Amino acid sequence: MAWAAMATANGAGGKDNAAALQPSELTPPLEDMNVRWDGTEASGSGMKTFDSPRFGMVRDGGARAHTGVDLDAPVGTPIFAVADGVITLARYNDPMLGSDVLLMFRPTASMLTYLASVGSAAIDGVLFANYAHLSAVFVETGQRVARGTMIGRTGTSGNADQKYPHLHFEIRKTRFPGIGAAGLGNRIDPELMFKVDFSTPVEAVTRPK
Ligand SMILES: [Zn+2]
Repeated sequence: MAWAAMATANGAGGKDNAAALQPSELTPPLEDMNVRWDGTEASGSGMKTFDSPRFGMVRDGGARAHTGVDLDAPVGTPIFAVADGVITLARYNDPMLGSDVLLMFRPTASMLTYLASVGSAAIDGVLFANYAHLSAVFVETGQRVARGTMIGRTGTSGNADQKYPHLHFEIRKTRFPGIGAAGLGNRIDPELMFKVDFSTPVEAVTRPK
């Protein structure tokens, strides 16, 4: 698929590299790792074509970057610390990210080996997980958390589409790598670290019955 070629071109590695890292080394940010599905426009049915939920130059026909993955989840779904670490940011009013949390964590030795194998590296020996569009935040800046700690709940804050609640999730190599295409180089495709289920259309999860 085109996005995979993009990821390789960006130095983030392709899907084939995913097996190199054991996903069990990190706790998934959500228990149910469905992803917003790229729906097909079907006039009159209410369906729409979503912004691409995947990582890379995937929006507006490749003209615009998406710096994380969008994990489909009803408002209020618990989110978890992916690793032992320190909360370096917990805020409530970013215009784009809304309520979001930044978790600094130390990658394991095998994770560093994996990053090196795809031509990447952790800067200063740490990575940052960003959780955005939250409806609740249970942690404070400076707080230490253990892997698996519930740190908040999903929502639609910031610039998220109110009709399609999701967790925007990123893995960053620096605290604030910038937005858009310029920020991709200092981020890692989360799909390379987590198994993500693309099988369920977002409509099936969030559309009222
Ligand atoms: Zn997103």
